[in-house]
Amino acid sequence: MAPTHVLRCCQRGLAWIPVIFIALVVCWSYYAYVVELCLYTITMMGERIVYLIFFHVSFVMFVWSYWKTIFTKPANPSKEFCLPKAEKERYEKEERPESQQEILWRAASTLPLYTRTGAGAIRYCDRCQVIKPDRCHHCSACDMCVLKMDHHCPWVNNCVGFSNYKFFILFLAYSLVYCLFIAATVLQYFIKFWTLCRRKSAENCPKNELNNSAKFHVLFLFFVAAMFCISILSLFSYHLWLVGKNRSTIEAFRAPVFRTGSDKNGFSLGFRKNIAQVFGDQKQYWLLPIFTSQGDGLTFPTRLVNADAEQATVTLQPDSNKCVPEVSVSPLSESQNRLLSNEQQANNADDHLAENFLKSAESETVTMESES
Ligand SMILES: [Zn+2]
Ligand SMILES: [Zn+2]
Repeated sequence: MAPTHVLRCCQRGLAWIPVIFIALVVCWSYYAYVVELCLYTITMMGERIVYLIFFHVSFVMFVWSYWKTIFTKPANPSKEFCLPKAEKERYEKEERPESQQEILWRAASTLPLYTRTGAGAIRYCDRCQVIKPDRCHHCSACDMCVLKMDHHCPWVNNCVGFSNYKFFILFLAYSLVYCLFIAATVLQYFIKFWTLCRRKSAENCPKNELNNSAKFHVLFLFFVAAMFCISILSLFSYHLWLVGKNRSTIEAFRAPVFRTGSDKNGFSLGFRKNIAQVFGDQKQYWLLPIFTSQGDGLTFPTRLVNADAEQATVTLQPDSNKCVPEVSVSPLSESQNRLLSNEQQANNADDHLAENFLKSAESETVTMESES
């Protein structure tokens, strides 16, 4: 086995340590709450049952969303974003960046792309050899291009992106609910153990105050839950703010660059539509870790071209990894045409190729057939 392969395997194994750590803490918290608190410490049957029901509901939702965040594969660019074989060979042989860009522009002319690099070039990943769709970024930890990449999260050992962003938000929400519920219900026993039992007034203590094991678990449970609450709350608030603005973490740090320049609100469609982009438009599914995000992850409506009612719709065949890709583009809206005329002012040879595409799309639906 090659040393690099062994190293890679070791890295992959080590990457699971944070997930195993969280899993162990969750298992211990389950034992501490259910056995040590509810069964050994709480004496009132009614209180015990209510606590156990609410605890299990939050526990199941938390574990479900955590599981989905970890094990949902990041979505990658589909085949039509790869250069055709002949073009790829030409691109690799070509040494001049401007000629390489020309090849990319030609290939990208049939793709629904609104964003570019800071220098105005087509975004291309040399590692994956693929033209990056809008909002797609290469993750060095996963070693792949991830659609609508938000960040690589070590606590789930996975990339958070288009395929699992909703699950990630729900994971934060339910872990917050889980910790808050534990902290709130354990608080009174925490105080009893901490104060009354210290004074050794046995009659005021829970039934087994002399049980040092229960005391340790309950005290520790409160500390851990409170600590996680504080750290999750800040992260959760930040991501709710991002959802409301329709920005990924990457875009919050570096605004996406459009044909008209960089615009941090380029993908923002208004608060309600931004929420629907991640959670879907059927409210009954919002709180369930079931995929309901809108779109295909390859194209996103942008404020810059979809402001009019006559909205441009770009649909790519969903399972295009396997099939012949089919791109259909509706007639361009007025704002797209404005965009086009702005473009024409820029005397850029590269832009010329993209304009040709937009012009051809104006009159009719374009159907592209793949060579593969
Ligand atoms: Zn890549
Ligand atoms: Zn990643």
